[in-house]
Amino acid sequence: MKIKVLGCHGGHVPGYDTTSYIVNDRFLVDAGSICSVLTLEQQNEITDIVITHSHLDHVKDLCFLLENTFNKNRKPLNVYSAPMVIKALKDHVFNDLIWPDFTSICVSGKVPLLNLIEVTDPFSIDSINIQPFKVNHPANAVGYVIDDGKVQVVFTGDSGPTPKIWETANACKNLKAIFTEVSFPSRMDSLAKASGHFTLKTLSDDLQKLKVENTPIYISHFKPLFLEELLNEFQSYTSENLKALHADDEIHFL
Ligand SMILES: [Zn+2]
Ligand SMILES: [Zn+2]
Repeated sequence: MKIKVLGCHGGHVPGYDTTSYIVNDRFLVDAGSICSVLTLEQQNEITDIVITHSHLDHVKDLCFLLENTFNKNRKPLNVYSAPMVIKALKDHVFNDLIWPDFTSICVSGKVPLLNLIEVTDPFSIDSINIQPFKVNHPANAVGYVIDDGKVQVVFTGDSGPTPKIWETANACKNLKAIFTEVSFPSRMDSLAKASGHFTLKTLSDDLQKLKVENTPIYISHFKPLFLEELLNEFQSYTSENLKALHADDEIHFL
């Protein structure tokens, strides 16, 4: 399995963009940074995006992707998420007020450009199995286990501490990595808790529940405002398993 990072920060300033990953050059997890990274030709090829939750830093480029690739050669875009996340996208984004309702706009023939697809159970994109699970974050957020039959990778999306992540990861027989988040310095514990995010301290504490030894933990979602402080704090954590993600990282799992 190949994971490429398009953006992996909890805010948007020059040089840092919000969350998006490409899995096996086939589909995306989250749509925080597509249009600032991929060419128009590459954007035109995207047909499937799995969304963790409806916060803007994870969905904003759905809007510009559809706008950028509105042409008769474009295949419909399938967007998958939990029912309440799909409802939020319908009600509050693609509602003809904030952005056009692309679920009722056909670029050619009678096929709408956008399919918003509710998922509650495991589903597949090609031969890759995708299993949603609840996490601890507002907006009905979910994480996903991505399984290509040989390798399993867990994406938590945004989350604060929750046993659900570690129960899900511990149940994976071929777990190769967990992609999770740290948003605030540990001194801001109460804000992190209130907003459903990890600090390095709460993530380290919660990791005690992970039973699969030596699993790499890839950390994203550092808030740009606290980037220097977070990187300094990160240096003080000596666990070799903790790895800070950067845009353009490409990680292969065998
Ligand atoms: Zn969020
Ligand atoms: Zn976020």
